[in-house]
Amino acid sequence: MIIDCHGHYTTAPAPHNAWRDRQTAAFAAGGDIDPLYPAISDDEIRETIEANQLQLLRERGADMTIFSPRASAMAPHVGDEAVARIWARRSNDLIKRVVDLYPETFVGVCQLPQSPGISIAQSINELVRCVTELGFVGCNLNPDPSGGKFSAPPLYDRAWYPFFEKMVELDVPAMIHVSGSCNAAMHATGAYYIAADTIAFMQFIEGDLFRDFPDLRFIIPHGGGAVPYHWGRYRGLADMLKRPPLAEHVMRNVYFDTCVYHQPGIDLLFRVIDVDNILFGSEMVGAVRGIDPETGQYFDDTKRYIDALPIPETDKAKVFEGNARRVYPRLDAQLKARGL
Ligand SMILES: [Zn+2]
Repeated sequence: MIIDCHGHYTTAPAPHNAWRDRQTAAFAAGGDIDPLYPAISDDEIRETIEANQLQLLRERGADMTIFSPRASAMAPHVGDEAVARIWARRSNDLIKRVVDLYPETFVGVCQLPQSPGISIAQSINELVRCVTELGFVGCNLNPDPSGGKFSAPPLYDRAWYPFFEKMVELDVPAMIHVSGSCNAAMHATGAYYIAADTIAFMQFIEGDLFRDFPDLRFIIPHGGGAVPYHWGRYRGLADMLKRPPLAEHVMRNVYFDTCVYHQPGIDLLFRVIDVDNILFGSEMVGAVRGIDPETGQYFDDTKRYIDALPIPETDKAKVFEGNARRVYPRLDAQLKARGL
């Protein structure tokens, strides 16, 4: 089967987004930050999924998506801790409804109630709720809840450890994922996302996080940011910083997805990064929605690029399915329970 490890509910029903607008307006005005949540029917949810993610999955030949709330809307820098907590809960509950309507096609990954300057420990309860009560298989972890100021400690800092301990205990990975940018100089999906991916990888090199947490797993999306292209720089920096080789220091715990929207980029990714560290992902329907005039195909139809690679079918099976089942053991268990 073909598992897309990176999809967001970018097409969430309008009343859900309107609720968020009311919440942030109430926060600004000093009002009720938990206004009455609208009744959203199953049919409303079906309409938003079937004409978008589900149709594209079928057209492109994938079977399932690891699905999370819209990343750019997480916006932890908007509001405060209480606003973030309620918003994450609403967003995750909506993902759960999609999963319940299409259990064979979607599995949930949660948004965390992160907020600038607030301990990541405050996100543990929502992680536990989503994994143990809603059946989610991972989370999106934002290394920069400030929305572009990078004011949080680096990921190797012990401030993050209580959350990492819980991730290991629950045996769930995190996708490193920032949200909207509050910095006009830094475009969200074109600059901020790719920069944050690259920054996170360098933080993993600088620290000793995986010595302390040998079972902790991260997916760095968007093909690992600039990392594969600059692989020699990072190997050289690891050496200069007296760190072990990347294969043992970082790459037992870190995976890259295939959200790279052209063939030469995918070719480079597979040439540089071990196939065991690559998970199929498209981030569809997401950052880049248009058709590439050079190919006549959607930029984000990343399955085509992998299909075109001259690599063994066994390697493609790892990227399309096996690696995801290894990195998301709770997904593997759910699939096995269904006889898959
Ligand atoms: Zn994403």
